[in-house]
Amino acid sequence: MDIETRKDRLDQRINTAAQRAGRDPSTIRLLAVSKKQPAQSIRELAGFGQLAFGENYLQEAVEKIGTLSDLGLEWHFIGQLQRNKTRVVAENFDWVQSIDRAVLAERLSNQRPVDRPALNLCIQVRMSEETGKGGIVIDEIFPLAGIIDKLPRVNLRGLMTIPQNTSNVEKQRQSFRRMYAIFSDLKSRFHTVDTLSMGMSGDFELAIEEGSTMIRVGAALFGPRPA
Ligand SMILES: *Cc1c(COP(=O)(O)O)cnc(C)c1O
Repeated sequence: MDIETRKDRLDQRINTAAQRAGRDPSTIRLLAVSKKQPAQSIRELAGFGQLAFGENYLQEAVEKIGTLSDLGLEWHFIGQLQRNKTRVVAENFDWVQSIDRAVLAERLSNQRPVDRPALNLCIQVRMSEETGKGGIVIDEIFPLAGIIDKLPRVNLRGLMTIPQNTSNVEKQRQSFRRMYAIFSDLKSRFHTVDTLSMGMSGDFELAIEEGSTMIRVGAALFGPRPA
């Protein structure tokens, strides 16, 4: 299957899920997760109108951002971020969705070049008890949001979550529903918040039904990732 066909099928599935949920499909943004995909595939997809891309690995991402700078793409960093790597992120990306410590947001704000608009940030939330997946627990969201909200060169846009691996659809739905409730609460307290980033290739339809505003899709768009 080629990329255009995959994109069409994905758009159809998004529309169907939105309809089922009684939502306007235009309220759901698609982030194309292009990690490990060659720049040429990104260029091809951009030709079909997809302009927002997510990357996990810094060195790989910065090379592609340079190669594709003629396209005016919007780049989201969605990987684990180390504090000594914040400058290159602040200089190259438009969004960072994996904020799980105040120090990362503070450094990004300080290091954001003055000639670029404020950097958009999402707090990464860990919904399950599993450790090592990144993200903060629910109790820590509002204190961190309060700190980010006061920083001059970043905008708090919302929450991102990577759900636990489970085949239990009801459990998944409960977890998405809980995220949506927290997102609504956050939105009512911080006026810049408008983004709930949840749902990937395996679960985006469920995420749309439960109120996601941004789905992050890799495999269903590009096909399986090269090893
Ligand atoms: C890889 C990745 C995705 C996309 O996963 P697919 O299953 O390929 O859709 C989404 N979000 C994050 C944070 C990722 O690392």
